[in-house]
Amino acid sequence: MKELINELKKMNLGKMVLNASLKDYTTYKIGGKAAVIIYPKNIDCLILLIKKLKINKVKFMVLGNGSNVLFSDRTYDGVIIKLDEFDKIEFIDNKVIAGSGASLMKVAYQSVRRGLTGLEFATGIPGSIGGAIYMNAGAYKSDMGYVVSKIKVLTPKMTVITMVNRELNFHYRTSFLKDHKDYICLEATLQLKKGNKEEMEQIVLDRKKRRLESQPLEYPSAGSVFRNPPDMFCGKLIEDLGYKGLIKGGAKISEKHANFIVNFNHAKAKDVKELIDFIKQVVKEKYNVDLVVEQELINWES
Ligand SMILES: Cc1cc2nc3c(=O)[nH]c(=O)nc-3n(C[C@H](O)[C@H](O)[C@H](O)COP(=O)(O)OP(=O)(O)OC[C@H]3O[C@@H](n4cnc5c(N)ncnc54)[C@H](O)[C@@H]3O)c2cc1C
Repeated sequence: MKELINELKKMNLGKMVLNASLKDYTTYKIGGKAAVIIYPKNIDCLILLIKKLKINKVKFMVLGNGSNVLFSDRTYDGVIIKLDEFDKIEFIDNKVIAGSGASLMKVAYQSVRRGLTGLEFATGIPGSIGGAIYMNAGAYKSDMGYVVSKIKVLTPKMTVITMVNRELNFHYRTSFLKDHKDYICLEATLQLKKGNKEEMEQIVLDRKKRRLESQPLEYPSAGSVFRNPPDMFCGKLIEDLGYKGLIKGGAKISEKHANFIVNFNHAKAKDVKELIDFIKQVVKEKYNVDLVVEQELINWES
């Protein structure tokens, strides 16, 4: 790995951070170290980087804003690719073209300010455009699938292609990208509509107030832990079992919202994982429901 890092440095592909703590790259503020994090300067650098990693058989992954991931406490012995340089946001008529590393919240707020409707649901979702498309982020009965018209992706064959909405297989918290982890989203075109700016601003304000009241935003977390099973709310299932406030190490089932696990005191990944496994087990026993974890568990396999 040391030799490869030296070669990558010489290739001058973009900023590199060595031996990085993943706590600084995830909203849980949890995770072990990453051998190296690279911020490719552009698509050509990204392609050169991936080709090099494939030749050297080094594992890699793209990380967005780290707001839907739980890394283990172990070192990620590979390369983490951050697309922060892919952060363009360009409005053309009712469309917005956004780089995959752009902040979803920023794109959503800018759209509202321009009186473009469609992304109000996203003003409280702290992900990147790429991460949001990957898991079809959504709220208030809307999601990315309603607004994405097409995306530019880098395929495993290192070609850049365009995929349109119907090819992206958007469903509840999933998409084509989630099923094809070797495809990388580079850019998205979102189709919005002209709306009433004042009404939209009021909706966004009301929802922000509701989120602040109902979600434990004062603590590090990665949002909802489990997907809601059909016609059920996980938060309610867990709350009814009396597990709000349950603590393992530095992690806790939020007292405000039982489908959030918060890092309230320097939690380890294993503390969060123990709570997840415990909830899955008791919900299965009491309700015969198999909960599905919404967050991505990374670097747990041994
Ligand atoms: C306080 C809080 C509230 C939240 N509320 C909501 C909510 O209301 N609704 C909701 O849906 N989610 C919510 N989330 C979860 C999270 O913000 C979203 O899932 C978001 O879309 C994740 O984006 P990200 O950039 O952080 O992705 P990351 O967590 O960085 O990555 C998630 C996955 O996406 C992949 N990925 C990232 N970028 C790319 C790319 N360019 N190409 C291919 N794959 C990529 C990664 O490899 C990883 O597997 C919340 C999180 C928090 C902390």
